[in-house]
Amino acid sequence: MTRDWPNFMNTPLLPCPNFIGGEWLPATPGGSPVYNPSTGDVIAECPAGTAADAAAAVAAAHAAFPAWRETPAVDRARVFFKYRQLVEQNFEAICRTVCLEHGKTFTEARGSVFRGLENIEYACGVPSLLFGDTLGNMARNVDCETLLQPLGVCVGITPFNFPAMVPLWMFPLAIACGNTFILKPSEKVPLTAILLGQLLEQAGCPKGVFNIVHGGRPVVDALLTHPQVRAISFVGSSPVAKYIYETGTRHGKRVQANGGAKNYLVIMPDADIPKTVEALSTAAFGCAGERCMAGSTAITVGAAAERLLPSLVAAANAIKIGRTDQPAQPDMGPVITSQHRERVLGLVASGEKEGAKVIADGRSAKVLDAPRGFYLGATIVDGVEANMTLAREEVFGPVLNVMRMDDLDRAIAVTNASAFGNGAAIFTNSGFAAREFKQRVKAGMVGINVGVPATMAMFPFTGWDDSFYGDLHIQGREAVQFYTQQKVITTRWFGGEVGDVWKK
Ligand code: NAD
Repeated sequence: MTRDWPNFMNTPLLPCPNFIGGEWLPATPGGSPVYNPSTGDVIAECPAGTAADAAAAVAAAHAAFPAWRETPAVDRARVFFKYRQLVEQNFEAICRTVCLEHGKTFTEARGSVFRGLENIEYACGVPSLLFGDTLGNMARNVDCETLLQPLGVCVGITPFNFPAMVPLWMFPLAIACGNTFILKPSEKVPLTAILLGQLLEQAGCPKGVFNIVHGGRPVVDALLTHPQVRAISFVGSSPVAKYIYETGTRHGKRVQANGGAKNYLVIMPDADIPKTVEALSTAAFGCAGERCMAGSTAITVGAAAERLLPSLVAAANAIKIGRTDQPAQPDMGPVITSQHRERVLGLVASGEKEGAKVIADGRSAKVLDAPRGFYLGATIVDGVEANMTLAREEVFGPVLNVMRMDDLDRAIAVTNASAFGNGAAIFTNSGFAAREFKQRVKAGMVGINVGVPATMAMFPFTGWDDSFYGDLHIQGREAVQFYTQQKVITTRWFGGEVGDVWKK
């Protein structure tokens, strides 16, 4: 087993412990292997995870709620000021763990952990975020005010592709708002979650306020149906997001469920080509394409294809792949598992079979010092048509489709025909084209000359259609609303005459 990641708190890693009621508890063995995708080695075991584990975590979170709810917001915020400091101090260790278990490059890991840190900073502002409204003398001698109060036990179920950032989208704000929390991390990347939990414990978060339960569907189902769970935040693939939303809401819970994506990038003939190539290359191949905001299809309009493609293919061919678990870093790391690699290869093959052409081919890319790693090089498939499987399904790998269109209307129509609605972007120097796109495109996050228009902590992460099930999105003010319930208090006092100062 590889132990070269900074195991600075000596948590036993085989199998990963659960964190329940402030204790790191041995969990049921026999779960799934955790790989270092750079080498294909097994580095830990994610426990099987049982309904009993979930029930124990809910009991601990439920018991911790009354005292935490009564803790003043400024004191809750102070835990996160301390947490922010600890995350910053251990920033490199967190990034290296992300590199080790996920395969992101150090630069990518750093970017994602930084996005997570911004969410902690946002949560530090919770005393102001929880301000209510008041209206004096709403009716004669009657005043009215609103209070935002926490819900109780909240749950976060997270995907493999951002081991630190996505959990940090959820628990700092939920807890700062006065809730208690159970994190169910992805079975593929449980180690970063453990590190985040250790640091929150060190920051002084009281026992039971934050809990971690590892495992798969049995744990999720137990949490989704438990009567003491009040809200579920989910991020993952669309079929699971839909299942979580339907099951959770049927059991009376608030649910926000982010799903998968297929993001279109429209390139107009007047786009700045060198800058667009750079943006497209990062959007499509950054994080080996394993991002819900990855640019997966470039739609070239008119002459844009001839101007763009030679440089884009050269940029893809220049991307160096390699191990991300060592100090020397490549441009791009591996994908998460060998099964996932096979799935991506299958989708590219289906495109070829249906008539598309591979114009940059990373399929047989090898890393000499890691022959068992899960590698794929940057791949571009030209001549993709809207009805092909490759055009419809989320690939989640370093593959960029190219579709050629005659005009912007057609490009918007094809973009809008997608079942997903996470992100879309346009590259142009025309204000008019940009405005048309912004107004008419059916996606929740839109980039204008920005390839990955993922929102930061203060703005909601606004997926539409099959990319989101629910009403209130993750991050920003919507998330404050999601993690609180509003109470309206109407007040009238009776008493003797106090005089009328205005008459004097
Ligand atoms: P996934 O749906 O397989 O797993 C996500 C979580 O759900 C994990 O914790 C997993 O244990 C659990 N899970 C999986 N199958 C389940 C089932 N049948 N019943 C109950 N729980 C189940 O997703 P993944 O492969 O880990 O992550 C990649 C996906 O996440 C991609 O589709 C990507 O687009 C999406 N994603 C979306 C966003 C967003 O904000 N929209 C962000 C990141 C990732």
